Amino acid sequence: MDRRKFIRSGLILGSTAMTMKLRTFAGMAQNLKSSARMPALFLGHGSPMNALELNEFSLGWRKVGALLPVPSAILCISAHWETRGTFVTAMEHPKTIHDFGGFPKALYEVEYPAPGSPQLANETALAVTSSEVKPDKSWGLDHGAWSVIRHLYPDARIPVVQLSLDYTLTPKRHYELARELSVLRNKGILIIGSGNMVHNLRMLDWNKPDAGFDWADEADETFRKWIAERNHHALNTFSKGGRALELSVPTPEHFLPLLYILGMQEKTEEASFFNTKTIMGSISMTSVRIG
Ligand code: ZN
Repeated sequence: MDRRKFIRSGLILGSTAMTMKLRTFAGMAQNLKSSARMPALFLGHGSPMNALELNEFSLGWRKVGALLPVPSAILCISAHWETRGTFVTAMEHPKTIHDFGGFPKALYEVEYPAPGSPQLANETALAVTSSEVKPDKSWGLDHGAWSVIRHLYPDARIPVVQLSLDYTLTPKRHYELARELSVLRNKGILIIGSGNMVHNLRMLDWNKPDAGFDWADEADETFRKWIAERNHHALNTFSKGGRALELSVPTPEHFLPLLYILGMQEKTEEASFFNTKTIMGSISMTSVRIG
């Protein structure tokens, strides 16, 4: 039962044993929170400056974040951690990594001191049986993770764990790996894929701050259509999608986090879009919520 409906049904009881019933409701609502299947998000992160700015994109993330049940922990698949083999951060206190150059000093001063979760790292490794997910003690939180998560959870109290992208895997294998991770959603874990569906830094056009090239718009629209139609096969074989897609995904790392989120989609779950916009000619900020 939806928690709001649940509370509403409690309020119309009006019996003499109300206090006791409310207490029971509170306990059950707590159980509901921990056993409910968490939505999953793909967030188009764009410029690292979005970490500092309150703009249409960061406000979009905040709005979606405010509607989510409170997660017990977050597992983030960021475009900015590529490795040979799959790793999961397993330290108690992940450091904030400033993995970019040429930005204002204020951005290098941002710290996101969320705790890690060796327990979630272990559960993540156990969830994947088709290949080995190894614990990592050297990474931390890169800007693909903290630049968006600090808007969702500014107080940094919810533990965050990152999963790396194995650059030796095919898109289809990433998608299949995601299916295995999907069970974590039943344990109150919020899974966030952070990248950009359309991401071609070589083609950036500073004269187009609020628009995309025709090919970028075409690719963004194609991806949204395939997601809405659940055509995951087409998304997994995006490299065969023609010229617009080739220009939009010149390298796969910003696109792959999307496949992780789609790999976790159940047949009964809807996908909804937000921050649907292309900017700077060659970037799409389009974001997706599953469930
Ligand atoms: Zn990026």
